[in-house]
Amino acid sequence: MKIRTRFGSTQPVTTVPFHRLRRSLAALAVPLALICSSARAAEDAGFASCLSQLRPEAIAKGVSAATFDAQTATLVPDMAVIGFLDAQPEFVTPIWDYLAALVDDERVADGRDMLARWDEVLTRVEAAYGVDRATVVAVWGVESNFGRNFGARPLLTSLSTLSCYGRRQAYFRGEFFTTLKIIQEGHVAPERLTGSWAGAFGHTQFMPSTFMRLAVDFDGDGRRDLVDSVPDALASTANFLKRAGWRSGDPWGFEVRLPPGFDASSAGRRNKQPMSDWAARGISRVDGSPLPAGAMSAGLLLPAGAQGPAFLVTRNFDALYSYNAAESYALAIAHLSDRLRGGGAFATPWPTDDAGLSRAERRELQQLLIARGFDIGEPDGMIGARTREALQTVQRQIGLKPDGRAGQKTLHALREQR
Ligand code: CA
Repeated sequence: MKIRTRFGSTQPVTTVPFHRLRRSLAALAVPLALICSSARAAEDAGFASCLSQLRPEAIAKGVSAATFDAQTATLVPDMAVIGFLDAQPEFVTPIWDYLAALVDDERVADGRDMLARWDEVLTRVEAAYGVDRATVVAVWGVESNFGRNFGARPLLTSLSTLSCYGRRQAYFRGEFFTTLKIIQEGHVAPERLTGSWAGAFGHTQFMPSTFMRLAVDFDGDGRRDLVDSVPDALASTANFLKRAGWRSGDPWGFEVRLPPGFDASSAGRRNKQPMSDWAARGISRVDGSPLPAGAMSAGLLLPAGAQGPAFLVTRNFDALYSYNAAESYALAIAHLSDRLRGGGAFATPWPTDDAGLSRAERRELQQLLIARGFDIGEPDGMIGARTREALQTVQRQIGLKPDGRAGQKTLHALREQR
């Protein structure tokens, strides 16, 4: 989605549905190319004026005039990021789909390779920060697929655009200035600073402000480099978790079994109770063993309600949560860390008769769609708009619920009809 008419304004964007915008442009009966070129000119002028307003603010925050001028001279805004900022999720991903793709056999195998490859560094990271290697590697795997997905958007472009347009400009200005300081201090070269549309970058996908607070130089070259130094990235992740309250030696939690008729009103990550209280209410570990004794307290997490897998989660789960402020995200890291330690799937199935797909299965599903003539691009395992649209069509054809979801039922049906 592109909101061309807003170029040149530094006022907060109000939401106008794009279809309505396009209709009003068409009604003007002016050649579209002309509109685009004049909008483009207004955009460039507005952006240049915004940058000149930001300059003194950046200098007051410690960015040198030379750095600001050199790094902003050729910047042009990327209005696509404003679209991401305003995007409403049109499709809510069930937790079982989310976890099936994030914690699949492929990621476990890759994670084990990384544990072996970075063994010496991880030993030193454990000693320095008190966070175990499986947890550190699990964060790495979920954040950037072990360094394979950094995001391709130049940080300075995204963050300068977000500093000048759209909601939350004050926040993004802080991130923009901090990015300039990262470059100024020589930690990461500007051309290596690419990331998500919002500016998260590197192996650990830190925002620039998180980088400034928590990134560490672990390989001793004098630079904190989360893009090209795996030791810096692994140690910075461990430092993040340590500073978020990680307790060395404690588990993140574990899957539990609820007794029949359990009153789930006390569930919730934040409602921490002593283990002995949960034990008194009939909760046990899924292997039947008793809950650990001692002072550790935990909250009861029911990601899909009382009928799905249940977990007691400790303060360490909260540390994982603080990385990205989503319980599903923290559970993905927690579960991947268990799998890296040799653990298996959850004992209790998710409350669905149509489980989610691993990335390999998603790619297979996409291959099957391509074989049926759908133009959905390369089979990359990412379920985007085109794949979902094709799925809806094919689900209608084969008599499944046309929800565009990539699940086992659709995969099996397409396999049989091949
Ligand atoms: Ca370094």
